[in-house]
Amino acid sequence: MKIIKHSFDGVIVGAGGAGLRAAIEAAPHMKLAVITKLYPTRSHTGAAQGGMSAALANVEEDNWNWHAFDTVKGSDYLADQPAVDILCKEAIDAVIELEHWGLPFSRLENGKIAQRRFGGHTVKEGEAPAFRACYAADRTGHMILQTLYQKCVSMGVEFFDEFQVLDIKIEDGVCKGVIAFELSTGDIHIFETRAVTFATGGFGKIFKVSSNAHSLTGDGPGILYQKGIPLEDMEFYQFHPTGIYRLGILLSEAARGEGGILRNKDGERFMERYAPSIKDLAPRDMVSRAIATEISKGNGAGPQNDYVYLDLTHLGAETINKKLPDITDFVRTYVKIEPINEPIPVQPTAHYAMGGIPTDVNGRVLSDEKNTILPGVYAAGEAACVSVHGANRLGTNSLLDIMVFGKRAGQSMLEYVSKTKASSISDSSSDDLVKKINNLIEKEHTDEFSVGRIRNDLQESMEKNTKIFRTEETLSEQTKILEDLRERYENVTIFDKGKVFNTELMETIELDYLLDMSESTVASALARKESRGAHSRQDFPERDDAEWMKHSFAFKNGNSATLRYKDVELGKYEPMERTY
Ligand SMILES: Cc1cc2nc3c(=O)[nH]c(=O)nc-3n(C[C@H](O)[C@H](O)[C@H](O)COP(=O)(O)OP(=O)(O)OC[C@H]3O[C@@H](n4cnc5c(N)ncnc54)[C@H](O)[C@@H]3O)c2cc1C
Repeated sequence: MKIIKHSFDGVIVGAGGAGLRAAIEAAPHMKLAVITKLYPTRSHTGAAQGGMSAALANVEEDNWNWHAFDTVKGSDYLADQPAVDILCKEAIDAVIELEHWGLPFSRLENGKIAQRRFGGHTVKEGEAPAFRACYAADRTGHMILQTLYQKCVSMGVEFFDEFQVLDIKIEDGVCKGVIAFELSTGDIHIFETRAVTFATGGFGKIFKVSSNAHSLTGDGPGILYQKGIPLEDMEFYQFHPTGIYRLGILLSEAARGEGGILRNKDGERFMERYAPSIKDLAPRDMVSRAIATEISKGNGAGPQNDYVYLDLTHLGAETINKKLPDITDFVRTYVKIEPINEPIPVQPTAHYAMGGIPTDVNGRVLSDEKNTILPGVYAAGEAACVSVHGANRLGTNSLLDIMVFGKRAGQSMLEYVSKTKASSISDSSSDDLVKKINNLIEKEHTDEFSVGRIRNDLQESMEKNTKIFRTEETLSEQTKILEDLRERYENVTIFDKGKVFNTELMETIELDYLLDMSESTVASALARKESRGAHSRQDFPERDDAEWMKHSFAFKNGNSATLRYKDVELGKYEPMERTY
């Protein structure tokens, strides 16, 4: 195994929307590397479909305060309101900036950027659904990613494509660098650097039915968690109401934004009963619970009564082909039905991590619940928890989050680098990692302890015990299962002993993070004895503001987590009952 050393002022880990946006900020003023395990334009941001919200008021009256109100209410009052204000205020410039960089937004007749409806976004604090999501057909994320990447290329940003970061070196509380594995050669690269931004995306692969790409395994949060950095609000994981039945492939909320309707087996528009005013456009946590409730009452469709229908048939071919071309093609390809004429079988799918690496509004990583800053380490995007999404994210607010807080993380990195001297990292800093890899390769392979089996059992059990509804019983059962999986993981073996694109080796290391993400999720969920946003405890069905209006911080403690808490930062919106 060759060991190669590099020296940079700053390193960004991840080339999705958050990483690229941070790079655009930092690159002109420092020697910067962007390290990414995927080729940049394969990042999950490119799979985002429906839109990015900003109160541009292109279709109707709107303002960022209404956007902030919706975001806070959507979060079930767990979001930090000063951070939400920043998100919604800076949204407008973020969209215009993308437009100026060449993003081909869909347009209105008058040439302005088109906007559509999305779940939980309203005008006048709940009066009616708002036209706030800016979009490029149903390929908004694809367009954002391409636009940002082309901007980075034009700026000469240095990329290390298909390099997987496996470790960070922090000495005396100061960042010294990161260690990466080059996928095509199996070589190890030591990156000496003063500042690192983690923009590694989510971890939806802890569940079996998920909209997330195979690569979303929580690497950034996992690497830091193993170094003693806590993870914030891990019990809040979002299930998107409309995944393709069994496959989990996402059918964007834009489908309902354009007028799509959810129906149960009798054809009833059941959301009228659960959210009488905004119906199918209620926030995701509520719609997912409504679907799960319909299914448990026997109102689900199909031979096993385990799905509902997303009905687009009344929209007409023109709207479908123009505004929802990609997702309807997924349906034709994977379900073999024609969505213009037939309703689509859907079920909730694991989608988005509200929790993650705790940061302040400038992307600076916090090492505890007292807001202690970890010098030189930053995080942005889905890997981070600012927290602007609280207990439940509104659709279109994540593409916005990666733009607003990606930029801020890049700026913070720059500020830090300009104030600190270069430091050095020792040649032996990769020794532990090399030893770990060699151990994995040398161990004889057995089927019983294969990565695939352990991961499959993890995903199935998380799906069963921790999905939309949870109880003390299911979470305790999952705690035991995780202990057992951890024990099996200690003996994990791999079949591929090669150096070239040894994806099995990388998946083995990713499984460690998936276990960490699951352990912290389950421990945080077991402790939180209330229901709020996406965390729904059947044994504690009410929201309990007196006791639980606080963020949880999970610190790794062996194979479990120790929990501490931090108060939510309130603002102008008083917590109220969350009806729609
Ligand atoms: C199907 C789908 C549709 C969506 N639609 C919308 C939408 O319409 N609107 C909206 O607001 N949100 C949407 N979302 C959510 C949103 O797209 C994501 O939350 C957001 O794009 C995440 O961006 P990111 O930059 O944080 O991470 P990602 O885009 O996931 O990028 C992660 C990057 O990290 C790199 N990486 C990871 N681990 C390592 C490692 N160990 N070493 C090196 N590199 C690493 C990867 O190579 C990749 O470049 C959608 C999500 C999905 C899954």
